[in-house]
Amino acid sequence: LEVVELIADMRTVVARARRAGKSIGLAPTMGALHAGHRSLLARARKECDVVVMSLFVNPTQFNDKDDFAKYPRDAKADELIAREEGVDFVFEPAPVEMYPDGFVTTVHVPGLSEILEGKSRPGHYQGVATVVAKLLLIGQCDRAYFGLKDYQQLQVIRRMVADLNIQVEIVPCETIREADGLAMSSRNVRLTADERAASPVIARALTAAQAMADSGVRDAQAIRASIARIIEAEPLAKLDYTVVVAPDDLSEIATIDGGAVALVAAIFGGVRLIDSCTLQSR
Ligand code: AMP
Repeated sequence: LEVVELIADMRTVVARARRAGKSIGLAPTMGALHAGHRSLLARARKECDVVVMSLFVNPTQFNDKDDFAKYPRDAKADELIAREEGVDFVFEPAPVEMYPDGFVTTVHVPGLSEILEGKSRPGHYQGVATVVAKLLLIGQCDRAYFGLKDYQQLQVIRRMVADLNIQVEIVPCETIREADGLAMSSRNVRLTADERAASPVIARALTAAQAMADSGVRDAQAIRASIARIIEAEPLAKLDYTVVVAPDDLSEIATIDGGAVALVAAIFGGVRLIDSCTLQSR
């Protein structure tokens, strides 16, 4: 495992691999790695000759300074996990390396970026799209791995890659969960014991929604209402939104026919948790 801090060095490494005819897989992360990240790395390891993990807590995607300051950081522990998963290169740039003086360009995916998560996190997806565009251009990878847990993020990235003709296959990876269903997230460590105990209600509501869809319920609003009811019954949860949407443009749908995804955001104390599940694949 080699840690690479400079963009120029990353380009050299990547160019060498490409000249040798090797395929390159990239998994962008912000560190605080858990089993969810591991699953991305393991998949990349299986599918690509050279695996690059980026480790960069991207300041521009945090609309809340406090959230950025509190984001857990432990590069040494993350490098250890990357090594265990067979990562070849960890790209770990300093913020000024990514955003030097004079940096002004942003990538904006309108529509998708403003709804749902975008509503309570203005500028967030612009920050995500811009940093992922940079990482894909630096990494020159054949495949890039993203978690389905951040479903809206995945769709923003897919749209950007299609619109900008970036030559990469975006590989969506299943959400990895704790034993009680809570989707793994670097923010879970900020839950109090009581909040942590209450948090699986999100996964429970989504599992119930899946069961409704599987049993033939086609009324998207009935499923949406069921998810809301289950989460709102939990006193420690404050439901921000739940929707049943089309898988690609995340537009709300009335009837489930031809693909549907349920998305949830709920706040436990000061911690915002998101989760999603497929109700019908396309
Ligand atoms: P982050 O470090 O939170 O920016 O996440 C880096 C990548 O890991 C993103 O593509 C996430 O969607 C993915 N990821 C985060 N949590 C999970 C999880 N529980 N299961 C699968 N992928 C995840």
